[in-house]
Amino acid sequence: MKKDDCIFCKIANGEIPSTTIYENEEFRVFFDIAPASKGHCLIVPKDHFNDIFDMDEETGGRLFSLAVKVAGSLKKELNCEGMNIVQNNGTIAGQTVFHFHLHLIPRYTGDTVNVGWKPGEADTEELKALAEAVRKNI
Ligand code: AMP
Ligand code: ZN
Repeated sequence: MKKDDCIFCKIANGEIPSTTIYENEEFRVFFDIAPASKGHCLIVPKDHFNDIFDMDEETGGRLFSLAVKVAGSLKKELNCEGMNIVQNNGTIAGQTVFHFHLHLIPRYTGDTVNVGWKPGEADTEELKALAEAVRKNI
């Protein structure tokens, strides 16, 4: 399903132009308009999902399978040394476009990409209890 006021619905379905690397019936892969590094691209489903919480497992599986192929091709063509795969859900997590998208960000020595967090501390007993609680919903 498409959403009328969604920019990525329009891009995914070809109503707004994008520099497309690849598309099939279900997904479009295109370059980010404000790239963090050379080759930074996005994979979006043509159907509208707000975020990962809104997406079905099967679509997610097919999307990541495509991501594996795109990542391999980017690496081959760009000779990048590594790659960050980033996917933001919710304003708090940095999402600015509320149509699911997976970022593929090639990495190079000396680039200015900043994806990270400060390592915290964990209590093993707390982690065990949390693991059990979360496992119940999977
Ligand atoms: P996020 O912050 O994870 O929601 O990422 C949104 C991304 O979409 C940003 O990296 C933007 O640069 C990118 N973006 C926004 N509008 C366009 C557009 N018209 N074409 C390509 N990329 C876009
Ligand atoms: Zn959309």
